[in-house]
Amino acid sequence: MNEPVHAASFTRTLRLKVKAESYPWLNAAAVEVNQVFNWVNETSAKAARPFACKPKWLSGFDLCYLSAGATKFFEKIGADTVQRICTEYAAKRRAAKRVRLRWRVSRGARRSLGWVPLKAASLKRRGSALRFCGKTFRVFERERLEGVKWRDGCFAQDAVGDWWLCLPVEIAVEQKDAPLQAVGIDLGLKEIAVTSAGERLEAGRWTHGLADKLAMAQRRGHKRQAKRIHRKAARQRADALHKFSRKMVDQYQNIAVGDVSSLKLVKTRMAKSVLDSGWGMLKQMLLYKGEHAGRSVRVVSERNTTRACSGCGSLTGPTGASMLVVRRWVCRACGDTHDRDVNAARNILAGSRCLTSVCGNESSDSSVPLSRLRKRRRETGTETMRTAA
Ligand SMILES: [Zn+2]
Repeated sequence: MNEPVHAASFTRTLRLKVKAESYPWLNAAAVEVNQVFNWVNETSAKAARPFACKPKWLSGFDLCYLSAGATKFFEKIGADTVQRICTEYAAKRRAAKRVRLRWRVSRGARRSLGWVPLKAASLKRRGSALRFCGKTFRVFERERLEGVKWRDGCFAQDAVGDWWLCLPVEIAVEQKDAPLQAVGIDLGLKEIAVTSAGERLEAGRWTHGLADKLAMAQRRGHKRQAKRIHRKAARQRADALHKFSRKMVDQYQNIAVGDVSSLKLVKTRMAKSVLDSGWGMLKQMLLYKGEHAGRSVRVVSERNTTRACSGCGSLTGPTGASMLVVRRWVCRACGDTHDRDVNAARNILAGSRCLTSVCGNESSDSSVPLSRLRKRRRETGTETMRTAA
């Protein structure tokens, strides 16, 4: 516990909801952004496939140069936004490796969600509000902006039609050692996550509660309301996952997660609960929060974790999809009673100690030859039992 405290900084994107009084301005600005974007799209496509002379793949710098002076044709957006559109476009196009990107549509059913990029320097603090392009913006939770230095960000619209100010900020964190050593986390359907210490994150409470409301809104054809309910469900889910991952990272130094592939299960009958449960999101959160706090997070193979007894290592547990109903079982070899998920979580924890991780935020120290795995597993298995007892 007397380890030195490391200070490090990380980039996080703050999302602050913009107050509704600015929506009309932002909606109008988004149309202008779309016009610039489409012009850039057309210009770079023409340069890449010219009628005559040599083809040229325009860079963000080239596009900024070509668009110089364009602001006089626009009422809302300024030169900095035009330049940001050019550079963002060039980066997107390079990543997509395509001559032309999809057009941004300003009206109708296939309308693109609004987007107004900005440069860090053009967004200024003015009292309790913000100034951008000669206009005052007020946001909710503005206290989160106090004392932070932001980088180039944007205003972005969500499916409901609300606008958010997204600003990447540098956040300093202190890395301290966690009070507890290690934990294994088993991801499941009934409970999203069960730890080797027996903590549970229940699944299915949120969307099922909102499902009736959603069905009603859809029956009545209230599209906007349906979108609002979807957004609410997504937020509740993310909130629960944030709280759980934060708790894990605060408590444990070494975290091991099973590597269930949600894509495989999505194709089966369990699709709805799989999509609900957000395993991928939880894994990502554990990985980045763990990295920020100086924890080791490993994703380990889930093979045989439900079958093997965490006490003696013999494969006496329930197997197959038909045995999913079995919640508790008794090991035939050593007579231990196990909770299915806690047992799996303990096996994952034991596995993380002897196996190399499938993917994690830390390279493992050594790979163990398969012949010695079994012995190591037995040792770590008993060790798990001792710490758990
Ligand atoms: Zn056993």
